[in-house]
Amino acid sequence: MTATDMPSPQTSPATIEDATALHSPVLAWFDQHARDLPWRRPDAGAWGVMVSEFMLQQTPVSRVLPVYEQWLARWPRPADLASEAPGEAVRAWGRLGYPRRALRLHGAAVAITERHGGDVPREHAQLLALPGIGEYTAAAVASFAYGQRHPVLDTNVRRVLARAATGIQYPPNATTAAERRLARALLPDDEATAARWAAASMELGALVCTARNEDCGRCPVAGLCAWRLAGKPAHDGPPRRGQTYAGTDRQVRGKLLAVLREATSPVPRAVLDRVWDEPVQRARALDGLVSDGLIEPLENDQFRLPLT
Ligand code: SF4
Repeated sequence: MTATDMPSPQTSPATIEDATALHSPVLAWFDQHARDLPWRRPDAGAWGVMVSEFMLQQTPVSRVLPVYEQWLARWPRPADLASEAPGEAVRAWGRLGYPRRALRLHGAAVAITERHGGDVPREHAQLLALPGIGEYTAAAVASFAYGQRHPVLDTNVRRVLARAATGIQYPPNATTAAERRLARALLPDDEATAARWAAASMELGALVCTARNEDCGRCPVAGLCAWRLAGKPAHDGPPRRGQTYAGTDRQVRGKLLAVLREATSPVPRAVLDRVWDEPVQRARALDGLVSDGLIEPLENDQFRLPLT
C-alpha cells in the first residue's frame, strides 16, 4: 500500500459497527428527558404538529412557543387559516424570521381545505404533494402526528448521526444520499418505535449533542459514539455556513416587513425609506419582498401585506 492509498484518519470516519445499538439508550434517555412541548401533546393533532414543524425549521423553540400558541388559538384548524388573507399569516408570523414560511403554511392550509376536506392527510405522498411541504416536513408530520416510520433528518438528527454513527464532527452543509441511507438503515422496524426514535434522536441533538457545546458527560451514547471514541477529530470538511444577520438584506427585509405588519392601512414608500439608510440595499430588499409575494405594491407608491 502506498502512502496515497493509506486511509487518512480525518477522511475515513470511524463508523460505528452496529448503529442500531444507539436505539435503546437514546430511547430510554428520551423517556426521562423529553421536554413537554405543546406540539408533542396528544391534543396538538396533525395540524399542530404541522404548524410547529414549519416554525421550528429555522427558529429555536423558545421563540416559537408564544407564536405557536397564538397561531393555534386563532387558527385551530387549517380551514380557519385558509379563510384569511395570506398577509394575515405573514402578520402573525411576527419575528420568527424567514417569513416565506408563513406564506407556504397558508398555501398548505388552503390545499388541505380544498383537497382533503380540511384534515391534514396521513399519507406521506399526499403530504409531500401539498404546496410548500418538502421531504423533511412530510416525514416529520407523518412520523410525529401519525406515528409512521420515516427517516426524519433535521439538523439536530444529522449532527447526532454524524458524530455517534459516522464519527465526524459536523454533517455536510446539505443532506447527502449517504446520510439518507444511514438514517433509513437506522430506523427501528416497528412503526411506533421508529417514530419515537425520530423524536428522541432530534431531542438529543437539541439538548445534549449541540452544535458547539456537546455535553458528552450527559450523553446516553457516550460509550458508543464513534466521533468521541476517535478522539474528536477536528472538522475537515467545507467551511460551515455562517449565520450572520447584521447588515444583510435579511435584516433590511425584516425591518421593512415589521413596519407593514404593524400597519393597519397601506404604507407609503417614504415611511419605508426611514428604516434603512442605504438606498440600493433598501430597494433590493423591498423588490425581494414583492417578488416573494410577501408584500403587495399598490398605486401611489404604497405597500401592504398581501390580500390574495
Ligand atoms: S458522546 Fe458527545 S459527541 Fe457523541 S453523540 Fe454524545 S454528546 Fe454527541
